[in-house]
Amino acid sequence: MNDAPLRRERSALTGFAINRLDRREDLRNKPDAVTALRHRSDTRIVAVAGETPVLKRLDGEALSIWFSHGETEMLGPAAEEIFLGMAEDGAPRFARLLDRALAETLKERPELFLTDLRSVALKRIVPEDEVGPLGEAKAVLDWHARHRFCAQCGGPTVAGASGWRRECTACGAMHFPRTDPVVIMLVTRGDACLLARQARFAPGMYSCIAGFVEPGETLEDAVRRESWEEAGLRVGTVRYIASQPWPFPSSIMVGCIAEALGDEITLDMTELEAGRWFPREEVLQMLDGVHPDGLACPQHIAIANTLVRAWALECERI
Ligand SMILES: [Zn+2]
Repeated sequence: MNDAPLRRERSALTGFAINRLDRREDLRNKPDAVTALRHRSDTRIVAVAGETPVLKRLDGEALSIWFSHGETEMLGPAAEEIFLGMAEDGAPRFARLLDRALAETLKERPELFLTDLRSVALKRIVPEDEVGPLGEAKAVLDWHARHRFCAQCGGPTVAGASGWRRECTACGAMHFPRTDPVVIMLVTRGDACLLARQARFAPGMYSCIAGFVEPGETLEDAVRRESWEEAGLRVGTVRYIASQPWPFPSSIMVGCIAEALGDEITLDMTELEAGRWFPREEVLQMLDGVHPDGLACPQHIAIANTLVRAWALECERI
């Protein structure tokens, strides 16, 4: 797959976005074909123990998410397995969920390295094109772990469609992996933008405001509602900038720039501990890491970083 067009998209600059697997949806309901792919010698498998990705040490400091068939068998039994698709070289790719209790034992093995998903992306410890498939695998495996019973009748469910569906053994209902949209917006007013912080953020870090899209509203309406609820700001025009798969546990972040209709900010102090208008010059200092008070923007993997850069560096406006 030629990734040149992908590279030009702002979405492609966000963490978890680069994913070159061909998902081959047409094979998911052909169990014999998928089983044959699973046993090919060039098949590679990503493993997650409960919540924790399991990485393989290569030579030196290098790490990879991909294990061979034999290496995967040495990790432990699968609670679930998903067919992810085919790599660019035509080799099959799968994902395997291991019992969370195995994480502690696997940590002791010198050929393995276990760390949380966020750190894998943030610290760039695996090749860039492995972060997206890992996020995809983690999101779908998490979904399996959390949907063992039918939302309709409470009966037990089993995996189907090579891991892309759960089927109720009692009422026959079919359930599919879900992706929850979250709007994240840089609200601007002239040559300033609103940045705010939650108490859980690292000291000095300010970010965009965000919130889940609710049933019955457009993305633009969700941006306007969240801007009002979190910052007391009425917002007019909203424009889409970029999106990001965000597997914590299963969101799609929809990044927008929005135009405030007034100056007065009234923060929702149950969600935010601070927030204000930041002039563009100050935002540039934050991006460059030279803010006199040590204030900073979110790191490269976050779409908030993409939004702030688009506005402050590339002069993207409504
Ligand atoms: Zn059911």
